[in-house]
Amino acid sequence: MKLSTSVFSDILSDYEKRRRDNILSAMDLRDRLYEKYPEFRQIDDEFADLSFERVCLHRNSGFDADETAYLKKHDELIARKKDLFKKYGLEEDCMEVKYDCPACKDTGFIGSDRCECLKKRLTEKLYDQSNIRSILEQENFGTYTDAYYNDREKAFMNDLISQIRNFISDFDTTHRNLLFFGDPGSGKTFITNCIAKELLDSGHSVIYFSASQIFDLIADIKFRDSSDYGNLPLTDIYECDLLVIDDLGTEYVNSFTSQELFNILNKRRLLDRSTIISTNLDMQQLKETYSERSASRIFGYYNLFEFKGRDMRLLMRGAAPI
Ligand SMILES: [Zn+2]
Repeated sequence: MKLSTSVFSDILSDYEKRRRDNILSAMDLRDRLYEKYPEFRQIDDEFADLSFERVCLHRNSGFDADETAYLKKHDELIARKKDLFKKYGLEEDCMEVKYDCPACKDTGFIGSDRCECLKKRLTEKLYDQSNIRSILEQENFGTYTDAYYNDREKAFMNDLISQIRNFISDFDTTHRNLLFFGDPGSGKTFITNCIAKELLDSGHSVIYFSASQIFDLIADIKFRDSSDYGNLPLTDIYECDLLVIDDLGTEYVNSFTSQELFNILNKRRLLDRSTIISTNLDMQQLKETYSERSASRIFGYYNLFEFKGRDMRLLMRGAAPI
């Protein structure tokens, strides 16, 4: 999983703050209970004395020291404390620290492993960073249906999906780039979103841009001397596990921006990072738009998938399934 260092350390300092707040509020509650019911303070003082006696016992007699007397007194104190909770109608754990996550006590780690709560927060952050949280709730393999396709389209989509499943399952070991091209509405963006969601859910960093957004980014960096796009460091664009560029060819293209785009793609290729591009242009139009030399040089490293067929968005809006 790749998150920018600053995002990760922000999350960890939030954990520290939460943990500290929860401990302080438990201490505060304990002090108020001591004030109201001084017998609790008395018992806790006796616990502290008893612990000290135990340390002394071990110092004098080693690990084989007879702890019978200590254990007896310890049990007596616990029983007295329980009685007190009962007497005042209090929960027995009312003085304990209430952690947001009892499993890791708000540290984010269990031993050296990341706790489930930390994994969840990191995934949430990855979603935020990817720019497409709301879209992915609607467009994913769980919402895929072939009800609107005819037999030829179904066969194409089924074959495509099985290749996409391979792309996802081999993602960590095989670096591949995909180029989806063809008719508008034929499912390119939908499939791209399915991939993005699967990879985000398995903890990969995914960044999603429409082509015009990425050209804005390039302009920001080059002309406004900014190294960030929003809060997104440029290094994340180069290094995120998957970069998605949707609707290539709909942006305003000039030689400068296309050169910069190809620099990004080239850098990612050299770093073994996968990129998915979708476009309504065919290969000939891509060559005409971005120069034959650039297009061939870059797209030579892509697996090409041509989408043909009817506009599924229109079909799904109006017509009954086939
Ligand atoms: Zn936890």
